[in-house]
Amino acid sequence: MDPTKKLGNALHAAGATPGHAVGHSGGESALRKGPAGSEPLKSYQKGESRIGRWSVGDVKITSVMESAERIPWAPLFPAETSELYKKYDWLVPRFITPEGQIILAVQAFVVEAGGRRIVVDTCVGNDKPREIPHCTDLQTAFLEDMKAAGFPPETIDTVLCTHLHFDHVGWNTRLVNGKWVPTFPKARYLFGRREWEWCETVLRDKTLDVRHILDSVQPILDAGLADLVETNHRLTDELWLEPSHGHTPGHVSLHIASRGQEAIITGDVFHNPIQIVEPDICSIGCVDKDMSRKTRREFLARYGGSATRMFAVHFNDPVGRVVRDTHNWRFSTD
Ligand SMILES: [Zn+2]
Repeated sequence: MDPTKKLGNALHAAGATPGHAVGHSGGESALRKGPAGSEPLKSYQKGESRIGRWSVGDVKITSVMESAERIPWAPLFPAETSELYKKYDWLVPRFITPEGQIILAVQAFVVEAGGRRIVVDTCVGNDKPREIPHCTDLQTAFLEDMKAAGFPPETIDTVLCTHLHFDHVGWNTRLVNGKWVPTFPKARYLFGRREWEWCETVLRDKTLDVRHILDSVQPILDAGLADLVETNHRLTDELWLEPSHGHTPGHVSLHIASRGQEAIITGDVFHNPIQIVEPDICSIGCVDKDMSRKTRREFLARYGGSATRMFAVHFNDPVGRVVRDTHNWRFSTD
């Protein structure tokens, strides 16, 4: 099954249209720093252009949001789970609309630690043909937003992809004179060795749409900028990878620890906060659904009720903690 194609077709059928996120600014205001606030930096053809800033000890983390679309519940999540959100009023309207649509954000996190500048996950990217209508041939101001936030591409020394799905590798490359070239020319790009080995089987067997590998991953290997790393790779004293397999076979999270504070950039362990209270709900993109459920449950057992913050790539309001609730767990934004 090609989940990308299925989601795209279903979105066509549902007549999905781009929308705008709601309820974002209140959630991160307590920890937001810098003058940018939640105001759009520049209007451009399409895109979210939201910047958020946080710190974890000495480590600074900036979110540059490429998009935040309202999409139908299914097929991203199983149709039979579409009523469950009504049990949890804290999800609406920040993460799920009153009509039951998912607000699916796509954002990159720039991590500044020990003089390093690391981009974690690179969104969908511009000019890229994709099966999903709201993701194809985007023309967003993402790179301008990065620059306005203080991060011109040539100042980035590391790119980390938590996994190699199309919405996490897009800005690895950009189109120049008909060729896909590295967007961050001075960076080393870190891909999980195990994840890349899985991609090689996908390329060979054509079991999934492989265009994003060909236009956003392979050119990085061809340019000699890729480092294939283990799932416990340490980037600095304050940053290291942790395996969080399931969504994809080599999926990793980034653990941040600095001056007694901790956080995890969780990639696609969770797509929406409903999975914090209903961790058995899998997204259509989960390659090994049972393992993804196990990974979510282990995450909640380990970090639930702790001071560790999670930074979630697809959450419209991306930063918060897992706290106790009458329904087991709840996501509490900072
Ligand atoms: Zn994703």
